[in-house]
Amino acid sequence: MDFSLSEEQNMIYDYGQSLVKSYDRKYWMECADAGRFPEEMYKQVAADGFVGTMVPEAYGGAGLGLLEMDLFLEGLSNQGIPLLSLVIGATMSMAPIGDHGTEEQKQKYLPDACSGKTRFCFAITESGAGTNTIQATTIAKQTPDGRFKLSGNKTFITDFVESDYALVVARTTPHTEVERKTDGFTLFIVDTKAKGVAANKIPVSIPIPEIQYEVFFDDVDLGPEHVLGEVGKGFNILFESLNPERVLVGSICTGIGRYAMERAVEYANDRVVFNGPIGAYQALQHPLAKAKTEIELASLMTRKAAWLFDRGEACGGESNMAKYAAAEAALHAVDASLQCFGGNGFTKEYGIFDIYPMVRLFKTAPLNSEMILNYIGEYVLGLPRSY
Ligand SMILES: Cc1cc2nc3c(=O)[nH]c(=O)nc-3n(C[C@H](O)[C@H](O)[C@H](O)COP(=O)(O)OP(=O)(O)OC[C@H]3O[C@@H](n4cnc5c(N)ncnc54)[C@H](O)[C@@H]3O)c2cc1C
Repeated sequence: MDFSLSEEQNMIYDYGQSLVKSYDRKYWMECADAGRFPEEMYKQVAADGFVGTMVPEAYGGAGLGLLEMDLFLEGLSNQGIPLLSLVIGATMSMAPIGDHGTEEQKQKYLPDACSGKTRFCFAITESGAGTNTIQATTIAKQTPDGRFKLSGNKTFITDFVESDYALVVARTTPHTEVERKTDGFTLFIVDTKAKGVAANKIPVSIPIPEIQYEVFFDDVDLGPEHVLGEVGKGFNILFESLNPERVLVGSICTGIGRYAMERAVEYANDRVVFNGPIGAYQALQHPLAKAKTEIELASLMTRKAAWLFDRGEACGGESNMAKYAAAEAALHAVDASLQCFGGNGFTKEYGIFDIYPMVRLFKTAPLNSEMILNYIGEYVLGLPRSY
């Protein structure tokens, strides 16, 4: 068994260290506080070739795998930059276009997206369906001329307005008329500025630069050129991108957990209130040591899941376990870190509490921990389905 990384993979993992010389956590938080996307940083990341990590070289990408994307996001998050839009845009949207798009779609969308000129978001969640995506009712009705009219609404769509295109999951056949409940869904590439599209901001209490939107589609005109893959088979493509999404959320969690811990270690080695630095107190040291152990274990699992994915092997169990473990580990890391900082942990200056809401989000979204455990219970352990 070989755990070593290639020279290229090590460079990808270390890339965050050079990026933060120009765009650091302070810049990231300024963008979050101003409610604006970190455009300059994103353009730099794109120019350095990382937005298109998983896109074939023929379309402007690097033609690398999920393991490289995992290393890139983990390394960036180690520096306090959890670039969520690369999970939603690059992995959930651009990679499926690379895998399932027509030649025209690949030419039209991928080079510009890889260069950072355009951006993608991903729209699946509906308020009426929630976790039970099968109940989604947004529908694209086929018209006699072979086109579609998209109507319905989506919620919590990250960066919808800031993105140029959204990959939208819609029904093309109502659920009452399909044989299998996952049939009848189609993926559409929708121009976010198209006629009939409207969006409202959903203010959330998470200090991140990405903005969330409720989105409405009112008879949006779409043609066959907007369909990704086969009509009615959108769920097959969707399923392919769920494991990468879980792995990469895990990568972000392990990185941001390390970032919080490293800040705490610096502080705890320095801060003296009785005799010697507070880092000597086992009450502070042991939670940090436990969190460090959990983070490194979770990191191993994200890398294993990514490695399996890149080899075309089943990785559902590993991806779910990686996401679950990493989300828990990151929460423990931030909590242990916060305790070291005492009152300072809650200040804007030290910024430790600011990390907590995002890390906590990952217990709920993109897939809540209960559904992750349901998956592990059912598919890994072989227990009966609970819902
Ligand atoms: C900041 C943010 C960004 C997001 N970005 C996007 C995006 O870009 N695109 C997108 O499509 N969606 C996005 N989402 C939506 C997110 O994926 C959903 O919020 C999430 O899937 C949960 O759906 P829900 O909020 O309707 O919760 P519900 O379905 O109402 O579930 C509520 C709770 O019930 C429990 N639960 C539900 N079902 C089960 C079950 N079977 N067994 C046990 N417990 C269960 C879980 O604890 C869950 O947290 C985002 C959400 C947030 C908050």
